[in-house]
Amino acid sequence: MSVAYPDPEAARAAAERLRALPPLVTSFEVERLKALLADAGEGKRFVLWGGDCAETLADCTPDTVTRKLKILLQMAVVLVHGAKKPVVRIGRLAGQYAKPRSSLTETRVIDGRSVTLPSYFGDLINRAPFTPQDRTPDPRLMLDAYAHAAITLNFVRSLVDAGFADAHHPEYWDLGFLEHAGLSADLRSEYQTITRQIADGIEFASALGDNASGPADGGNIDFYVSHEALHLEYESAQTRTVPRRRGHYNLTTHLPWIGERTRALDGAHVEYARGLANPVGIKVGPKSSPQEVLALCARLNPANEPGKLALIPRMGASSVNSALPPIVEAVRRAGARVVWIADPMHGNGLVTAGGIKTRRFEDILEDLQQTLGVFASLGVPLAGVHIELTGDDVTECLGGAKGLTEQDLRSSYQTACDPRLNYHQALELAFVLGRRLAQSRGTHGR
Ligand code: PEP
Ligand code: MN
Repeated sequence: MSVAYPDPEAARAAAERLRALPPLVTSFEVERLKALLADAGEGKRFVLWGGDCAETLADCTPDTVTRKLKILLQMAVVLVHGAKKPVVRIGRLAGQYAKPRSSLTETRVIDGRSVTLPSYFGDLINRAPFTPQDRTPDPRLMLDAYAHAAITLNFVRSLVDAGFADAHHPEYWDLGFLEHAGLSADLRSEYQTITRQIADGIEFASALGDNASGPADGGNIDFYVSHEALHLEYESAQTRTVPRRRGHYNLTTHLPWIGERTRALDGAHVEYARGLANPVGIKVGPKSSPQEVLALCARLNPANEPGKLALIPRMGASSVNSALPPIVEAVRRAGARVVWIADPMHGNGLVTAGGIKTRRFEDILEDLQQTLGVFASLGVPLAGVHIELTGDDVTECLGGAKGLTEQDLRSSYQTACDPRLNYHQALELAFVLGRRLAQSRGTHGR
C-alpha cells in the first residue's frame, strides 16, 4: 500500500533518514531463522509465533513487553513438553505497527453529524483518535516506530540474554485458569501433571549443569521478531545488501509477512517480497485457490529454498475442512518447499450484538484441531502456530476456562485492532495444543 502523505517531501526525507540508520536485526540472525524454519518445515521443530494484532507506541513499556515475552516463552515450554521437539519462538513484536484495513475510511456520527476520516492504519502511519489531525498520515511516525522497535528489541534481547528465569519455572507461572469451573477435573489433573513434569525436568536439567535459569530445551533461548510488511516505503528504506552475502535483506525484522489483503500475485507487496533474502510469510485465506498458492510459491521462492516461505492458512473453523486440503495437497504434489504455520485467529472473528469485535476461544481451538487433522491425514508436517495474544489480563476473546462472557468484554478491552487471547487463554491454548501434539506423537510412533 502506498500511503497518501499530505507532505510527500517530508515522507521522502523520513525514508532517507531511515535508509541511513543502522539495521534493527542482522543478516546472520535472519539466516539462522531461515535454517530453523527449514527444520520446522520437515517436522523437526515447532514454531510458536505470536503477539499483538497491532503494537502501539504507547505500549512500549517494560511491563507490557516483559509480559508478552513471558507468555510466549511459557507457552514454548509447554509446547516443548508436548511436542518433544525444540520450539522456535517468534514475536509479532518490535515493529508490528502497520495495519491493513478493509476500508480506507471510517465514518462515525458525532453530535448528530456523519464524519468520515481516514481509517486508523497503525502507529507507523497515523494515530487512533478520531480527529482529522490524528488520522492524517504523518511521516515522522516512521522514525518514531523505528525507534520504538529498536527500544523494544533492545529490551527483549537483554531479557533473553539474562535467561529470564520466571518464564521457565512453572512455580512462577500464574496457573489460575486451572482453578476455574470451565475445565473438567480430568483435564485439570492432566495439566497439573504436565506442570509438575516440566518443573521436575527443569530441576533435573539444572542439577546436571550450571544452566539453572536456562531454557527447557537445553540450547540458548533464540527469540525472533516479525511484523506485517505493509508499508513498503518503510520496509524498503531498511532493505539493503550486506557484505559477503547475496541478495537484499529487510533488516527491520527477521520474518516479514504479507497479509491476506495484500497478497495479490501481481501486487506491490509480492513484488517487494520476491526480492528479499529473508524468510517471508504469506497468509492464505479461504478464498485462495490452489493455483494461486502455487503461483505465489513459485514467485516468492523460485529456488525452492527450504525455510524461505511460510504459508499461514487462516481459514476459519467452518472453512478448514473444505478449503485447506486441496491447497496443501497441491503444494505437496508440486514439491514446493513450504513451512506450514496455522493461524487459527483470523478466520474466526465475529461482532457481538453490542458491536464489539471478538473471537471465541472454542472456535480458535476448533480451527486448530481441524487444521492439525488435515495435516495429519495428508501426512504433511504442520510446522507451527501463529496466534494473537498478550501477556496482560485483557477481556477481548470470549470463553476459555475462565468462561469470559460478552458482558466481561467491556471490562478490559484494550486492543488497538483485533481481539487477542489474554494471558490465561494463551497458556490454556498451549496446554491444549501441547497435549494434542503429544497424542499425535503417540500415533505416529515417535
Ligand atoms: C493480522 O495478522 O493481523 C491480519 C490482519 O491478518 P490477515 O492478513 O490474515 O487478515
Ligand atoms: Mn490481526
